[in-house]
Amino acid sequence: MPVPFADLQLQYQTIKGEIDRAIAGVIRDNAFIRGSYVDAFEREFAEAAEVAHCVSCANGTDALYLAMKALQVKPGDEVVTAAHSWISTSAMITHAGATVAFADTDGATFTVDPAAIEAAITPRTVGIIPVHLYGHPADMDAIMAIAKKHKLWVIEDCAQAHFARYKGRMVGTFGEVATYSFYPGKNLGAMGDAGAVVTNDASLAEHMTMLARHGGLVKHQHHIEGINSRLDGIQAAILAAKLPHLASWTRARQNAAKVYDGGLNQIDDVVVPEVAPERSHVYHLYTIKHPRRDALAAHLNANGVQTAINYPTALPFLAAYARFGLRPEQFPNAHRDQSQILSLPMFAEIAPAQQDAVIKLVREFT
Ligand SMILES: *Cc1c(COP(=O)(O)O)cnc(C)c1O
Repeated sequence: MPVPFADLQLQYQTIKGEIDRAIAGVIRDNAFIRGSYVDAFEREFAEAAEVAHCVSCANGTDALYLAMKALQVKPGDEVVTAAHSWISTSAMITHAGATVAFADTDGATFTVDPAAIEAAITPRTVGIIPVHLYGHPADMDAIMAIAKKHKLWVIEDCAQAHFARYKGRMVGTFGEVATYSFYPGKNLGAMGDAGAVVTNDASLAEHMTMLARHGGLVKHQHHIEGINSRLDGIQAAILAAKLPHLASWTRARQNAAKVYDGGLNQIDDVVVPEVAPERSHVYHLYTIKHPRRDALAAHLNANGVQTAINYPTALPFLAAYARFGLRPEQFPNAHRDQSQILSLPMFAEIAPAQQDAVIKLVREFT
């Protein structure tokens, strides 16, 4: 049985009427760039994300850039982030004008280790960017305590963790700003690129709005030099149509994770994803560890099961960071994980028979 890694077509078929109507409305109203559909989505997303302000932008990478620019990072500033993430998180620190400092992951949840953050702090550190990787919330109590002690800002990278909760509180509501991606494969995905920053701080929201709109709120009044990073109307309408379904899609992912956990956790050498106490994992990815990861992946792929490695090289070891000369022993968890992690097919509509096929193949491998 072929099992795709994700199936965006299947999701579209379940809500085709709603999506098609949303797109047709934008075309009818000529609301292609910003406009009423974008305004409506920003309101609805802020409410759903339990924050006061949502500023939409072109993608989750720009969201990180806008957040740091609004927090006014400057050359010489250092920003600490997780050693294992998508490169946007660290690359935007550099592009915003600061210097990246990596902190190792905790070895169990794939999210950043607060003790490693503390160890990475210097007199030049200005902020921390935890990443709620794979949909598992980072340890926000510990991170916010460190931020408070050292007077640092926090930007939460929520690109993989739409509406996950930490001790009952939604991710993205702890730090000064949180960033979201609506890349098509994310838990809430557009049909193209899209992103947003959210905050409870009205002046930061206004500053990020200006930055994303050529430096002004009113046409031809440029208060600063901004960039052009906008959500288009069609993507906003699609996201607004999908948003009411997100909670049930998340429950379906969580149920699918339970099925995987039950089928895989007794198998020798397989480590199923750990969920730390009092956290809700939204399973953007279901990532296991296995000491013979590459052979297991080859076995699954040869039998029609698509897998992915997120991410095969932890950030400190990428060519992009060769200038820092970082070594594996400085990031032992990220370094070990990069050769053991394997993401299995995970999407809200995955069928029990598809999961059974994956579990059976993993079992017969060992
Ligand atoms: C997807 C992602 C981003 C970037 O989002 P884009 O919309 O693709 O620019 C940033 N950080 C993390 C952790 C991501 O997974």
